[in-house]
Amino acid sequence: MSSRRRIAVVGAGMAAARFAERYFALGGRARVTLYGSEPRAPYNRVLLADVLTGRYDAEAITLPVGDAELRPGAEVVALDLGARLLTLADGGTEAYDELVLATGANPVLPPVRGLRRADGRGLREGVHALRTLADCARLAEDAMDAKRAVVIGGGVLGVSAARALAALGPQVEIVHQGPHLIERQLDEEAAAALRDALRTLGVEVYLGNRARALTEAGEVELADGYRLSTDLTVLACGVRPRTALAHAAGLAVGRGVLVDDSLAASVSDAPLPDGSVPHVFAIGDCTEHAGVVHGLAGPAWEQADVLAARLSGADPEARYTGSRPLARLSAGPIEYAAYGEVHADAGTDVLQLTDATRGSYKKLVLRGERLVGAILLGDLATVGDLARALERDAALPEQPLHLLTQHLFTTTHGAL
Ligand SMILES: Cc1cc2nc3c(=O)[nH]c(=O)nc-3n(C[C@H](O)[C@H](O)[C@H](O)COP(=O)(O)OP(=O)(O)OC[C@H]3O[C@@H](n4cnc5c(N)ncnc54)[C@H](O)[C@@H]3O)c2cc1C
Repeated sequence: MSSRRRIAVVGAGMAAARFAERYFALGGRARVTLYGSEPRAPYNRVLLADVLTGRYDAEAITLPVGDAELRPGAEVVALDLGARLLTLADGGTEAYDELVLATGANPVLPPVRGLRRADGRGLREGVHALRTLADCARLAEDAMDAKRAVVIGGGVLGVSAARALAALGPQVEIVHQGPHLIERQLDEEAAAALRDALRTLGVEVYLGNRARALTEAGEVELADGYRLSTDLTVLACGVRPRTALAHAAGLAVGRGVLVDDSLAASVSDAPLPDGSVPHVFAIGDCTEHAGVVHGLAGPAWEQADVLAARLSGADPEARYTGSRPLARLSAGPIEYAAYGEVHADAGTDVLQLTDATRGSYKKLVLRGERLVGAILLGDLATVGDLARALERDAALPEQPLHLLTQHLFTTTHGAL
């Protein structure tokens, strides 16, 4: 039997793949095994909407895992942290020296009547979540015969699903409870430009309205009583960290598995003096760090990179101190990137460019001479420069216009 150290990674999604790939790239020598409940190798979930439209096939979005051993279709059902053993759904047990939890998140089912089957098991026919390639395949099949589709939720996932469905043929409507689309990352103007762009693709958006029931006749009934007839319904109402395994093992769980800057988990009842449990770490959508649950690929990868640096020995003191909010959507003709603080306040200056003919909207938010947030919609030519400027976190050159490019109509507020 090999005497190499064994690192078990529970979950074989985006964070797990990134961890494994970086771990070996940094010269890590342990035996790394990825246990994943999905029946396939890790893939880039962010591109699922592009798989739905047929732009990519499933194989094309596979992620590299370095020299890790892959165990697809192997769900971990229990952990014995003391004995350092994990139990698989088939009853088998495996020993490890270090454990990395990367169990991701589950779609949230909104409180809408009539979503589930009569026997309460699973979603009713024609109702879909979109988290996995299997979801994607089912949705693509249903969309072929659908004339009308309703997407419940107008966040990143809802917009990206709506755009993909519209490309497949059905007439698509988004029902969104918030005041404007993607309100976590976009300001009102950007969201309005996005809504216009969606309209040109045939997607209608209902804002400030809640879906309350799916009727027997296959209509989505809104809180104001209005009914949208639909052949298929997609739920895009956010995600919830998958924490049941960690919780059952006695790890401290808030909204996600609680981790410190070393990404170590802690036990709920008898924390060690530093609060952490040796040998157990968590990364990605399942985690909560400093009160924040991200649910985005960027932070998941940053956490994976830090943990890979620590466990490979390349930088045993590496720390994860949080991620700047950063979101990027590439949905066919609809593209945007949003970073950091996108809402101006009394202490900020704003530089804004709007080009209605091109459907683009751009905004920089500055605090003093430092760039603290930005939105690009419809023209992402300067996205790399912007990301670097935010990363540097230093005073900007005198004229930051080049970060937006040189187009048409300019409005500035504040001291710029
Ligand atoms: C359609 C879609 C579009 C998205 N678009 C964007 C985007 O534009 N930008 C962005 O930043 N983010 C986006 N995201 C979010 C992004 O995909 C996630 O943040 C990212 O996948 C998190 O990685 P993760 O490894 O933590 O979780 P996941 O990638 O979900 O991987 C977790 C894996 O663990 C497995 N697992 C769970 N429990 C167990 C267990 N007990 N045993 C074995 N395996 C288990 C799960 O089956 C899953 O395969 C999108 C997500 C979706 C679904």
